[in-house]
Amino acid sequence: MEADLHIHTIASGDAFGTIKDALFVARKKNLKAIAITEHGPAMPCGPHKYYFNNMELIPRYDGSIKILKGVEANIMDRFGNLDLEEVILKKMDIVIAGFHTFALKPLSRGENTEALVKAIRTHRIHVIAHLNYSEYPVDEEVLFPVMKERDVALEINEGALLKRRDTVEPFVQKLKKANRIGIKFIVSSDAHYPDAIGKFVLSHYVIKKAGIDESQILNRNVKLLYEFLKIK
Ligand SMILES: [Zn+2]
Ligand SMILES: [Zn+2]
Repeated sequence: MEADLHIHTIASGDAFGTIKDALFVARKKNLKAIAITEHGPAMPCGPHKYYFNNMELIPRYDGSIKILKGVEANIMDRFGNLDLEEVILKKMDIVIAGFHTFALKPLSRGENTEALVKAIRTHRIHVIAHLNYSEYPVDEEVLFPVMKERDVALEINEGALLKRRDTVEPFVQKLKKANRIGIKFIVSSDAHYPDAIGKFVLSHYVIKKAGIDESQILNRNVKLLYEFLKIK
């Protein structure tokens, strides 16, 4: 992978490195880009919306590494509302959206699905986070075609797979379905500690097992990635 698109820093409150630490590891791993994607404000430990608003102060490049400004936004209700206002979301290079229990207790399969579909239809979302979380069942037959239509990528989240080994095999099945529908993927570390950046062991396993072709993985090549995110 040439980029790691899901990284938390100390600003997330539950993570332990700075942006400079992330860059240090990214350089060692020969990454060309990283995305800083803190938790949205609905997480008790997440930064205030001013943090996201102020991310424009982070330079585009640190040495040769491109820094993408992003957020891991929380889905707040079954209507698909997010915890950052549109004007700030529009400033982000990458918007990852997902479920976290602090922001929204798991609903029924139908309601979880409805929440994601409405979020995708209402907001500028690039990636749906960690769908391996089994407490948030979704109807993939409904969700995946909408993701395909709106060009939303599905995340293969190394950290979430590592934390929940029991979800690895069921997630392979989900990936197979997504792959059949022609959805694109991103592979990310969801690093909360800098050394996790750019490490994709279980991710490689599920990609192989699900028979996903490299060409479907957006961050394997930054050119492909920047086209997808519509950034220069
Ligand atoms: Zn998350
Ligand atoms: Zn995360």
